[in-house]
Amino acid sequence: MTDPTESNIADPVFQSLRKRGHRITAQRETILQIFRDLPHGNHLSAEELHGKLVQSGSHVSLATTYRTLKLLSSLGLLRELDFAEGHKHYELKEDTVPHQHIICVACNATVEFEDHFLEEAGQKIGLRHNFEVIDAQFKIFGLCPDCKRKARESDFVSEQGRPAKMRIK
Ligand SMILES: [Zn+2]
Ligand SMILES: [Zn+2]
Repeated sequence: MTDPTESNIADPVFQSLRKRGHRITAQRETILQIFRDLPHGNHLSAEELHGKLVQSGSHVSLATTYRTLKLLSSLGLLRELDFAEGHKHYELKEDTVPHQHIICVACNATVEFEDHFLEEAGQKIGLRHNFEVIDAQFKIFGLCPDCKRKARESDFVSEQGRPAKMRIK
């Protein structure tokens, strides 16, 4: 991981936050840097981020990690995603192309996709209700190709295991 203390001082994102009166602690910079270093399309839960922080020698608590994630999301630096797994995931929002997610309900694999039509629809619906739209999230839930195949195979196995009478219709 890159050193967060010096390198980001001139970072325009942090400069504009400081101008707006937000304190950007080294810890918050470290967290943003972890998200920046993630391979494209990766998302982290608070627990996963906390694990990475502890690994890198930080003594931050899980509660502080939660609070910092909430704060960075409210500042528009991170995007909070609810994949309906009982906990939220986060991804970097700065200069990322608007995108949506397809989530596998069996293995939680997520695939990102872009759709201009959905972005526009989100903006339009927001406007219709006099909202200033910050983010529009569209989620598709289903079975990924792997899990679809596994489901078919186990169907086949149980089909084979049934008494012969039941198999013949
Ligand atoms: Zn994403
Ligand atoms: Zn899957």
